Amino acid sequence: MKIAIFPGSFDPVTLGHEEIIEKGLALFDKLIIGVGVNSQKKTMFSEAERLAQLQAAFGHHEQLQIEAFEGLTVEFAQQKGARFLLRGLRNGQDLEYEKTIALINKELVAEIETVFVLSSGQFSHLSSTLVREVIKYKGNISNLVPPAVANLIYPKPN
Ligand code: ADP
Repeated sequence: MKIAIFPGSFDPVTLGHEEIIEKGLALFDKLIIGVGVNSQKKTMFSEAERLAQLQAAFGHHEQLQIEAFEGLTVEFAQQKGARFLLRGLRNGQDLEYEKTIALINKELVAEIETVFVLSSGQFSHLSSTLVREVIKYKGNISNLVPPAVANLIYPKPN
């Protein structure tokens, strides 16, 4: 069984992440979205909020699991019996950055392979940083995050 971890901060999860998740579901038997928790890193959304957003958007996929983890991604992968790490690439800058991380991870655990998926042009400009900026000023995020996530971020009055 091919198991992959899709690690990230997901602060918040975007349509760019969604594209990588969908491609990952087609490549692997099981995909575990690993929400990296780092007590030193300030996030806009708490661990619980990020997990709830991911659950709302992707919880219905049987092939998919959503979990928080602390520490090294490769160690989390080993705990889960995953041989693959999935990462998305938007541009050359992502590639340079991701390459160094993948090489370090390879040094740490040689059996784990990082698999890269290219984002389509439509989403290559999208980042969680940009979405957080829009949220700060109460801008419209319906074209930036999955609908279920937008509903959690801006609850509808009733
Ligand atoms: P991290 O803090 O680990 O970079 P992110 O949540 O920002 O966490 O990103 C997780 C993964 O999703 C990374 O591989 C990143 O390159 C990828 N990613 C983020 N936004 C996009 C996007 N718009 N298109 C494709 N991949 C993306």
